[in-house]
Formats: sequence, structure tokens, C-alpha cells
Amino acid sequence: MAALLFRDDPYLRTCEATVLAVHGDAVELDRTVFYPLGGGQAGDTGRLGPWRVLDTRKGPTGDSVLHILEPGAAPTIGSTLEAQLDWERRHRLMRLHTALHLLGAVVKAPVTGGRIGEDKAHLDFDVDMSRLAAGDIEGELADYVRAAVTTRVMWVSDAELDARPELVKTMSVAPPRGEGRVRLLEIPGIDLQACGGTHVANTAEIGTLKVIRIRSEGKRNKRVTLELAT
Ligand SMILES: [Zn+2]
Repeated sequence: MAALLFRDDPYLRTCEATVLAVHGDAVELDRTVFYPLGGGQAGDTGRLGPWRVLDTRKGPTGDSVLHILEPGAAPTIGSTLEAQLDWERRHRLMRLHTALHLLGAVVKAPVTGGRIGEDKAHLDFDVDMSRLAAGDIEGELADYVRAAVTTRVMWVSDAELDARPELVKTMSVAPPRGEGRVRLLEIPGIDLQACGGTHVANTAEIGTLKVIRIRSEGKRNKRVTLELAT
């Protein structure tokens, strides 16, 4: 089990952490700023002490996190090391992740999939292609960014979430369950949904978005791909 510091403060770039376990090239820490691959968002990269962290994955149990180190790294159990994010990359992931919440509000249709990488991000919608016009989508996204809305994290119980199924928009990415509570991301007036990822504090921070592709990936998957202009 690790303390997941990114949950309360996604802007935290470093922390001191103690090595709890080593499984080959994967290291568990007692606390971490590294977000593990999940909910469509790529795992973080950075450094742990003298070694590079190439990827971050969820561990086998609960809140355990596996930091995948470069080959040859040999941290000692019980040692304390500085964990440092590749912040430039993570911040782009946060901007693109928050942008997908806006996209989900612009395209009012069921979401059937999604992925957030450092360069681009997409959502898949169960919608007719005729309803997806790149120029219109870009314009509405720009309005939401310009509105400079402050985002907010809230927690609800599993029971409350069960009573409000509309809070789970992404059919293919179920929110983390089993802890008795579920994290919600609210962009007031725009979007409210269960989400465990990392987001920017204000939509203005996303900057200019471009719709680089709209393509059919199947009967129920019309994919809209976004990119950051800067
Ligand atoms: Zn999110």
C-alpha cells in the first residue's frame, strides 16, 4: 500500500519515499507522486534516486504502485530515495486529460473508450458521424477553456454512485471501486463524473486544443482525437 499523493495534489512533483519491496525492475514505495497507468491515462515517468522510472503500473493489491525502473537499477529495501516526476510530460497528460472531460461535455453521446497519451488524447463515442464536426467541436472546447473554470475533486460512497449511474460516462473505463468511496471530478457547469486521474486546476491551463482527427473505428466507436497546440 502506498500513499497516493497525486490524488490530493496532482501538482506535487517530488517526494521522499521509502522502498517497501522490489520485484525485479519494479519497485513499491510507501508514498508516491507517480500516477499508475489507468482510466485511460498513461503511467508517469521520471526518476527514483539515481535511476530512471520508465513507466508506472498498478500493483497486485489495492493502492500498491509499481515503479518500473531502468535495467540494472538496484534499490535497497528500506532505503529512502527522492521520487521525481517528468513534470513536463505529466503536465501535458493533465491538460489533455482535463480536455477529454470537456470533449465529453461537447459531444453529448455515450463514451465507449478513451486514451490519454503525452502528445494526443481521444474519446470514442457511440454517435452518428454526421454529428461530429471538427470546427464546431474546437470552437466549443475553446469556449470552455476561455471560461477559466476551476475544477474540483469530491468523493461519494459506492452506494451514492450506484444511485447515480449518470456519473459514469465511460462504459469501458469503470471507476475504481471496492474502497467504499469513489472519486469524482467536477468542472462546475460543464461536467461531473467518476474519475481517478490527474487534472489541471483550471480549464484555462489547458490552452488551445486542436481536433486532429475524426474517424470511425467501428459501429459504436467514432473517435475524436485532440492535440495541444502548444
Ligand atoms: Zn478525469
